[in-house]
Amino acid sequence: MNVIAVANQKGGVGKTTTAINLGTALAATGLRVLLLDLDPQGNCSTGLGIARADRHHSTYDILLGETSIDVAAMPTCVPKLDIVPATVDLSGAEIELVEYEERTHRLSRALARSDHRWDVVLIDCPPSLGLLTLNAMVASNSLLVPLQCEFFALEGLSQLLSTVERIRERFNPALSIMGVALTMHDRRNRLTDQVSNDVRAVLGRVVFDTVIPRNVRLSEAPSHGLPALIYDYRCPGSEAYIALARELIARLPAFDTPQPARAA
Ligand code: ADP
Ligand code: MG
Repeated sequence: MNVIAVANQKGGVGKTTTAINLGTALAATGLRVLLLDLDPQGNCSTGLGIARADRHHSTYDILLGETSIDVAAMPTCVPKLDIVPATVDLSGAEIELVEYEERTHRLSRALARSDHRWDVVLIDCPPSLGLLTLNAMVASNSLLVPLQCEFFALEGLSQLLSTVERIRERFNPALSIMGVALTMHDRRNRLTDQVSNDVRAVLGRVVFDTVIPRNVRLSEAPSHGLPALIYDYRCPGSEAYIALARELIARLPAFDTPQPARAA
């Protein structure tokens, strides 16, 4: 399983939109994808049409060790895309977990115990660098960082990168940055072009070629409980997430392909 945390401690940069639509695009290629909604706001769950009353098991239960990921994962309207939803209890988890042993490794342990039926696990992180995001980073192979095309785009990134460095040193030496995705690009606004050029100049090849445009269809889709890729698969936002999925697949380490049984 390739575990990817969609993280940026800034709110409103497109983490959840990216998790939902990238997850959908990856599932459409035939990969088995699991979304873990690790934001107490539960936007990822709501955006995929999972009613609060149907969230019988949640990422909160996983972190507290009350259930397994295999049991908690539920199907979505997208074939091959499963989700473990978030409930509001998750907002208390940061404080409750302090009492627990190995509080930074709760998610990582839970993933290790799962039956590994997914090819890719995407974790939708909350807008902070607290214990929930730390759990995601400890559990992940890599990070996907959405960066909004705005003047202060790079501000806060150094804090994120130094957190990644700390996690590498202490817990997860293999944690890599899979890529930075520029989001909410507005081609009528010259500033956003300039920002995206600046970001590329500073960060180089880690920035995906694909830029996610500002597209109203992407923001409408969640209110219908659908990924944009189903709500309007031909809108520029959907097309961009398909292109991003293609780039991401090219950056993934090779999948474990099942070995044919050896002849006796
Ligand atoms: P985060 O998870 O980082 O807080 P969201 O994905 O929830 O960010 O996005 C914040 C808001 O912006 C949401 O209302 C979402 O629908 C909207 N949004 C996200 N990406 C785009 C985009 N490319 N174009 C238009 N609206 C977007
Ligand atoms: Mg979010």
